[in-house]
Amino acid sequence: MLWKGRRQSDNIEDNRSNGGGGLPGGLGGGPGQFRIPIGGRAGGGGLSTIIILVVLYFGLKFLGIDPIQVLGGGGGSLLPGDNSQISQSDQPGQSAQANDEMKQFVATILAETEDVWTGVFQANGLTYEQPKLVLFSGQIRSACGFASSASGPFYCPGDHKVYLDTAFFDQLSRQFGASGDFAEAYVIAHEVGHHVQNLTGVLPKFNQMRQRMSEADANQMSMRVELQADCFAGVWGRFTAQKGILEQGDLEEALNAAKQIGDDTLQKKMQGYVVPESFNHGTSAQRQRWFKAGFDSGKLSSCDTFNNPI
Ligand SMILES: [Zn+2]
Repeated sequence: MLWKGRRQSDNIEDNRSNGGGGLPGGLGGGPGQFRIPIGGRAGGGGLSTIIILVVLYFGLKFLGIDPIQVLGGGGGSLLPGDNSQISQSDQPGQSAQANDEMKQFVATILAETEDVWTGVFQANGLTYEQPKLVLFSGQIRSACGFASSASGPFYCPGDHKVYLDTAFFDQLSRQFGASGDFAEAYVIAHEVGHHVQNLTGVLPKFNQMRQRMSEADANQMSMRVELQADCFAGVWGRFTAQKGILEQGDLEEALNAAKQIGDDTLQKKMQGYVVPESFNHGTSAQRQRWFKAGFDSGKLSSCDTFNNPI
């Protein structure tokens, strides 16, 4: 990706020097937890998926849709579960220089998302509110609770911020087998996709509804939310490609990343078998397909994961 020399966003909050302890962990696991997949949530209601889809449809006016008021609640993570431990040595392993380049890269990709989404919102008569991106090292407190490197990147709808641990890209490459700058860009674009969902009302609606859902229904709905974020990342990728800054192999890097972090691939790798009922981000094939749907069309209307088979 030809990212160097392009505009860098001012919306980076560099919290890396504060990492490594000392933060009181009082918020962990509270309401508004940042993970889309919350296990063991009580609540029996069990609205049928059909009804929920119909209700969610009204949150989708952006793909034809009115933005609903933004409520608080949980957010979106890139990866399911807490199975992604980062070894200690990874954290101080990067040199200051590498970190600096990493920061410049992240700030550039964030700026690219700002430009694209500002334009897309304008085209729909809306105003895009730019999210902040917090770089952290070790652990961090967000409005959605306390998080550590093991959480993976996530978006917190409560404070409209994307959280990214500086060691994650190393992990993505080494542990998940997804390397390349456009793979990293996909990760950022996916989290920004959750921010778009927050602004359009999809995320607040989901967080509200899942409290009354069975875990199985919530997982199903979570997948649709996640796959839409992948599709939005694809839409962003399309606009980025049109600027002529993608290189040979970039698209493949993103598609490979989508594959490597699919629920089935991750479960096979982590536990040796898959439990489809527990999927909450989508399979490798689904994640690739929805990223590609957004990338191929460049249209939000191709990202309606709520009214189409996924
Ligand atoms: Zn996500």
